[in-house]
Amino acid sequence: MDIHNGTLYWPTTTTPFKPQSTKERLDLYDVVIVGAGMSGSLTALALVEAGLSVAILDKRDMGSGSTSANTGLLQYSNDIMLYELIDQIGEKEAVRFYKLCYDAVDGIEKIVKRLQIDAEFIHRPSICYASNEKDVDKIKTEYATLKRYGFPCDYFEQDEIEKKFPFSKLGALVTFNDAEINPLKFVQGLLKEIESLGVHLFPYVDVQDVVTENDNLEIRTSGQSFYAQHIIYTTGYETTPVGKRIGADINRSYVFVSNPIKDLSDWYKKALIWETKRPYLYIRTTADGRIIVGGLDEDKPEAPFSDELILKRANNLLKQTKKLFPNYDLNIDYAYAASFGESIDNLPFIGEHPTKNNQYYLLGYGGNGTVYSMLGSIILRDLITGNRNEDAEIVQLHRKYGVT
Ligand SMILES: Cc1cc2nc3c(=O)[nH]c(=O)nc-3n(C[C@H](O)[C@H](O)[C@H](O)COP(=O)(O)OP(=O)(O)OC[C@H]3O[C@@H](n4cnc5c(N)ncnc54)[C@H](O)[C@@H]3O)c2cc1C
Repeated sequence: MDIHNGTLYWPTTTTPFKPQSTKERLDLYDVVIVGAGMSGSLTALALVEAGLSVAILDKRDMGSGSTSANTGLLQYSNDIMLYELIDQIGEKEAVRFYKLCYDAVDGIEKIVKRLQIDAEFIHRPSICYASNEKDVDKIKTEYATLKRYGFPCDYFEQDEIEKKFPFSKLGALVTFNDAEINPLKFVQGLLKEIESLGVHLFPYVDVQDVVTENDNLEIRTSGQSFYAQHIIYTTGYETTPVGKRIGADINRSYVFVSNPIKDLSDWYKKALIWETKRPYLYIRTTADGRIIVGGLDEDKPEAPFSDELILKRANNLLKQTKKLFPNYDLNIDYAYAASFGESIDNLPFIGEHPTKNNQYYLLGYGGNGTVYSMLGSIILRDLITGNRNEDAEIVQLHRKYGVT
């Protein structure tokens, strides 16, 4: 399956990562991770730092999956608003989930700083504007809910929005302590670090099946088998080698990246921008002053091949962006389409398979995938090392729209 097509921006900001450890191999690993993207590399870091032996296998270049297409908005708010999640799973768990997301942004920042990764991590506020009149009440309710549980946020009336941005909207929820990141540079930095800590990295290894062999797992691949006590699937939006049904829809999203814009001073704190309508536009700036805009999600799983279609959609996004920022001299420098998974109940899939012992998933489906990768890495580390993790139940696979 093609998970993205078109011209990606992040790979132009860095050089390809070449692992050094491909010739080494243990007879038995504590953990083999399938997938060397955001989820796999963060989980490997958590596990190797807990003292476990770890290998990562990936059928492609490491970091070249949806991590390279990720627009890198890091937010504690989710596609499902807190008050809606409270209706869905109850107050205690919903608030706890939002707190986990809030802490995950913080956790990513701590890793960036501790490992000194040049990942262009910058704190930004986010604004989620009401796309239409009827959604004003929705964001007011969400503002009151976030405030009640102590999340840093604000509400901008129309006149405030007009003062802070070149566009006008009826109202907007503002959340603080969010951030932007260059996801590819971040993952490359993580891979370099974990390799130096002893994690073995194997690109171009396609995992095809996993069988239990004398209490251990035999991981059958396109080449030789690997053996491990535990396996974690961090395979992103593709079908996992094991597991029948995942309660998710795989769609596709379009992105364009503009030319650098000299003066962004009329853009309040270069805030991350999104909106209440579905599918929503999502907008941010980059370290070199470009604007990244995503949206126009379609109900089809594969990224389209047609450059013409990708450019047509990118032009549509450009038109919508020009309406928001009419004074910018905006052009399309990069345009791409990518598969994008969303879980039916708006929660990620993190935990042990309900019937297959020692086989774990970390699938961060939804707009907040990076935050889910971060919080999932901690939950899986705890589950595998036998530490109690009270949050694991919220995102476990054994649920109505989970994994079977
Ligand atoms: C257009 C777009 C915009 C996005 N924007 C945001 C955003 O702003 N903020 C945010 O938080 N999230 C965003 N996301 C989501 C984010 O990209 C994902 O959550 C994140 O990339 C997932 O990382 P991952 O490691 O789980 O998956 P991936 O990066 O896709 O890694 C999975 C890896 O598994 C490998 N693999 C799969 N199957 C096998 C197999 N059988 N054998 C071996 N290897 C295998 C693949 O080759 C791949 O490298 C966006 C996604 C898209 C597509």
